[in-house]
Amino acid sequence: MVNKELMPKFIFECQKTGRCCYIVDPIKIFDIDLARWWTDGTFGTVFPYLNLNMMTETLVPTEVKIEKTILLENEKKPNEREFNSVCPLLNRETKECTIYSTRPITCKAFPLAYNGENFVLRDLECPGIDKGTMTAEHLKQIRTAAKREYTSNNRTVTILPAIHSLLMKELTELAMKEAAAQKEKGSPESE
Ligand code: SF4
Repeated sequence: MVNKELMPKFIFECQKTGRCCYIVDPIKIFDIDLARWWTDGTFGTVFPYLNLNMMTETLVPTEVKIEKTILLENEKKPNEREFNSVCPLLNRETKECTIYSTRPITCKAFPLAYNGENFVLRDLECPGIDKGTMTAEHLKQIRTAAKREYTSNNRTVTILPAIHSLLMKELTELAMKEAAAQKEKGSPESE
């Protein structure tokens, strides 16, 4: 992240290039994202891509993130040459987020972040900066998201062990369902 104070007049309009979905790394997930996905039914969609970073010695989780897809040179599309990885929730053809209305708070705040004192730009080369017209309402939304991301960060770290247990429970249940489905497929009565 570029630690540069927000210019006096910040104007931004997303140009729908998907750039942020390639360059943001890690795509951190916070408690408010998980809670929202749990209630709006998105959790099952996002779950396969969630990754908990663990401290190797203690196995204490340190962050939750979306595991990005590594872009191999021979699989890159022409407009992906400069990128190394991409969020698996991006439709790489249309450059649209497949969970746009409920995307992570980090994505809602982009290209801003909040450092506790100032708003800062994450990406000076974001093609949406200095484009379009910035309504007061839009600016407020982005700033609110950046502040929520900032305050959620510390809180999420403290409840990560609980989140870890929940994710493990979910993972076990999914594995059991999968095993039961496989068994059902293989049983003679199901033929
Ligand atoms: S969640 Fe959506 S907006 Fe956020 S990086 Fe992934 S595709 Fe982009």
